[in-house]
Amino acid sequence: MLQELKACIEKAQHLTVLTGAGVSAESGIPTFRGGDGLWNRYRPEELATPEAFSRDPETVWRWYAWRMERVFSAQPNPAHLGFAKLQEMGRLACLITQNVDDLHERAGSRDVLHLHGTLRQMRCVACGSRIPVHRPPEVPPLPVCACGGLLRPDVVWFGESLSPDVLQLAFDEASRSDVMIVAGTSAVVHPAASLPLEVKRHGGTVIEINPDATPLSSMADLSIRMPAGMAITENLGLGQS
Ligand code: NAD
Ligand code: ZN
Repeated sequence: MLQELKACIEKAQHLTVLTGAGVSAESGIPTFRGGDGLWNRYRPEELATPEAFSRDPETVWRWYAWRMERVFSAQPNPAHLGFAKLQEMGRLACLITQNVDDLHERAGSRDVLHLHGTLRQMRCVACGSRIPVHRPPEVPPLPVCACGGLLRPDVVWFGESLSPDVLQLAFDEASRSDVMIVAGTSAVVHPAASLPLEVKRHGGTVIEINPDATPLSSMADLSIRMPAGMAITENLGLGQS
């Protein structure tokens, strides 16, 4: 099976990778379904929404500051490093991620398409200005823009639309992919989950890497049931040299 993965990567003309929260799990960043200590009693669907932010921006910001703290102190794992290496070798056309962390970039990946935004930026709800986040804000007080408007994390919340430009680029990449590797995503959040379907519609090959079965598994050409880091590094010889 891993031989097949290797062969697919080697013969691919336009290889893309789609990643989800599972790829960062090995860096110690919990997936939403993982559940974790302090915030265990909240469901992400209750905090990562525009309604929650209008109602109680302080609680939403405290949750994001905690997530930023974890993400910023985490290190890229072999999966991030392996995908970066594929790009460096000229084998990867595009890396598309649902993750809001910056571990792909810190592993060396360039031009990553962040479908769901990034924790490295805040956005003003009044004027739309974007401001880089170097360290998590200490809340309270709530972070505010120079215009006086409230700043929010520059991520896509439940019920919000993805950036049309980023989405268009991702679909263009999917339609041109003869091979797409889908790693660490439960493949239930659309439109991201439609990208592999777009690849199939154009006759491409979809390879899933996930320790568990997902709704994508039945239509994937190859399902590799193991953690992404292990699949990418050890078996493809893409570990750090
Ligand atoms: P998800 O829908 O991407 O599901 C996680 C998947 O990863 C599961 O199917 C699980 O079986 C799999 N997985 C777990 N460990 C793995 C490993 N080592 N290798 C490969 N696969 C592994 O993620 P979610 O938690 O349901 O979150 C949905 C959305 O929430 C994401 O699309 C993202 O926008 C956001 N989110 C982002 C981060 C992050 O940036 N790191 C973390 C949590 C949630
Ligand atoms: Zn502003």
